[in-house]
Amino acid sequence: MLINRRAVLAAMAASLARPTGLRAADMMPIADMHAHLFFIGPNPAARQPLRRNMASGGATLVSWSLVGDMPWIRRSATGLKQNGAPKRGAATAWFREELERIHRHLAEQKLKVVRTPVDIERALSGEPHVVLSVEGATFLDDGLAGLEAAYDGGVRHLQLVHYARNTIGDFQTEAPAHGGLTAFGRDVIREANRLGILIDLAHGTKPTVEQALEISRSPVVWSHSSIARGEPNWRMPAWRARQISAEEARAIAAKGGVVGLWALPSDVGSTIESYANRLLQMAQLLGDDHVAFGTDLNAIANSPIKNYTDLRRVVTHLEARGVEQSRLRKISIGNYARVLSAAMVAGKA
Ligand SMILES: [Zn+2]
Repeated sequence: MLINRRAVLAAMAASLARPTGLRAADMMPIADMHAHLFFIGPNPAARQPLRRNMASGGATLVSWSLVGDMPWIRRSATGLKQNGAPKRGAATAWFREELERIHRHLAEQKLKVVRTPVDIERALSGEPHVVLSVEGATFLDDGLAGLEAAYDGGVRHLQLVHYARNTIGDFQTEAPAHGGLTAFGRDVIREANRLGILIDLAHGTKPTVEQALEISRSPVVWSHSSIARGEPNWRMPAWRARQISAEEARAIAAKGGVVGLWALPSDVGSTIESYANRLLQMAQLLGDDHVAFGTDLNAIANSPIKNYTDLRRVVTHLEARGVEQSRLRKISIGNYARVLSAAMVAGKA
């Protein structure tokens, strides 16, 4: 696509001229399939109050991802690695406490949690909502019943694997141990389908993705990373190991799913424009119905997207480049809303 420089400048001027405090309902709403807010360091609400952050960019459907294996991973020179393993019951206990903290924070912030397709409709019409998600279902090592408990606790989006080995399946950054999903991992997918929880395959190995696509009755997402030129494998540098092959991304799209683009500067570049370029490339490869934002907010150093004001700049930039509103709306919010709703409708919701 050709960039019309005059249109870019006009749009930039228009965005600068916008009054502050613009209501979210006046802007095209934004969704983010993968964001974090960690309860470490100074009070996160004081550092970056989520409601104000979301409102600043018109983000109305944000997946807040609870890192399910956080106590059992550590940062190393070659990326995040497993550090110990939870004793029986510990992962569930930790998960429950974190989920409670998230609920308390959202109540303080007066932010609503998505529980039904009606809530998704509200988010689409500009009312801010948070989707509770889990990154790495370590808590399920204590049994499948934990999934219904998580559902009752508001969880609607489940990423199966992360950096700690679990009983579900293989992940991208270590040598595979199961050849994809375990028998239990297959049961987890069936149970998530039954409950109406969206499955997220991010961090999963290729066999994990392929097997999950065979089993799942509902479309799935790959919430965050980017499309690789070749075949990623666990021996590569961490961020390259974490990419998804074009073949897997197409398979997810073919089943109605969505792939999210993270804002990792070593991968997508350090500017709003470079992020936007990658997003359009992804849309070209997978189709406009299968691409979304998956920023990994607050988990990436020197990210070009540090808050939802930055993500709004991506949308404004794409508008200025002449991307039609209908296309942009799909990428910006429609696609995530669609798959999340589909998972709920196919389940018991
Ligand atoms: Zn991740």
